[in-house]
Amino acid sequence: MTAAQTLHVTNRINIGSGVQSLVNRVAHSRRFWNIACRFWPARPFNVPGGQGFVSFTFDDFPASALEQGGAILERYDARGTYYWSGRFTLVTDPNVGPLAASHLRAVADRGHEVACHSYGHLDCATVLAHELEDDIARNATAAAHALSCNSATFEHFAYPYGQVSLAGRRVVAGRFSTGRGIFPGVNRGWSDAALLRANALYGGNDVYIKAISLIREVAFHGGWLIFFTHDVSDTPSAYGTRTDAFEEVVHAARESGCSVLPLGRVAAQFLPPRRARPILQE
Ligand SMILES: [Zn+2]
Repeated sequence: MTAAQTLHVTNRINIGSGVQSLVNRVAHSRRFWNIACRFWPARPFNVPGGQGFVSFTFDDFPASALEQGGAILERYDARGTYYWSGRFTLVTDPNVGPLAASHLRAVADRGHEVACHSYGHLDCATVLAHELEDDIARNATAAAHALSCNSATFEHFAYPYGQVSLAGRRVVAGRFSTGRGIFPGVNRGWSDAALLRANALYGGNDVYIKAISLIREVAFHGGWLIFFTHDVSDTPSAYGTRTDAFEEVVHAARESGCSVLPLGRVAAQFLPPRRARPILQE
């Protein structure tokens, strides 16, 4: 082999491994798959302008989401959506706080909506499709046990950590009426029911000011505005909402003329149900 041939072979190997490296990096890039899912709807549906809707949702969820957040919603004759991970009734996560099965029962008994957040709080950007299926089934079994019913079926899902992949979203799109993410914005016009936009309701005062501004915008232009948080407390975690700020935002939503409804109640106006069995009618 001549020197020139050696150089040619070496270059081919370098180019090949470079492409392979790029492919591997893309395949394992959370950012790439999150963006791909964001701009490639799995379950498109139309949210017409005109009427405005606001939904308050709680992830994980800690007890204060019901005891503080739920109580505030109820004072304004509204209800929320609570995404439940069965694991947190067994393991007290320092970011979540103690949660008993009785809290899950209370959420349903008080007219709020129970939805699925996977059993193990899985990262849907990395988990395999069959693992996610198994984990979702496990969460339904755990919910049935906690609610003392024979079986339970969730109709709505929220992606833990907001992480999503094409495979994970395909599972969610096939099994649930909606999947809720954490990409901010308003669901208006053509939207993706398998990756609903939602806005964090925690952080500094600017977050609460922005939330009220979004409510006014939706009241004027129509669309569906979804908020998500975790705990609601006078001394919230980094992922939780201050009690007085939460009440201020709920008050603004009520005063705006928007319909303040659990996520499933809004979805039902635009989407046929995938698993149309409310969890307590089993
Ligand atoms: Zn979560």
